[in-house]
Amino acid sequence: ALMITDECINCDVCEPECPNGAISPGEEIYVIDPNLCTECVGHFDEPQCQQVCPVDCIPLDPERSETHDQLMHKYRLITAA
Ligand code: SF4
Ligand code: SF4
Repeated sequence: ALMITDECINCDVCEPECPNGAISPGEEIYVIDPNLCTECVGHFDEPQCQQVCPVDCIPLDPERSETHDQLMHKYRLITAA
């Protein structure tokens, strides 16, 4: 999963781009629900939020490192729900 750092300027550009609805406004900055973020696997070749973020504050979450297979499995679980 990806994560949003405290450099986020709350511009709201990323939220509508997420195909999994994983991004939402948090208490202070936007947040990504790691249980819903497939790094866009299953939908797009590149993480859409990273493509649009004007301040480049959406890196990989080092504590939520996942393989492509794990991400695809998550995608299947989300879309089956
Ligand atoms: Fe959503 Fe894709 Fe960004 Fe994950 S990488 S938060 S699935 S847009
Ligand atoms: Fe924050 Fe970047 Fe999303 Fe804008 S696009 S709300 S700066 S994470």
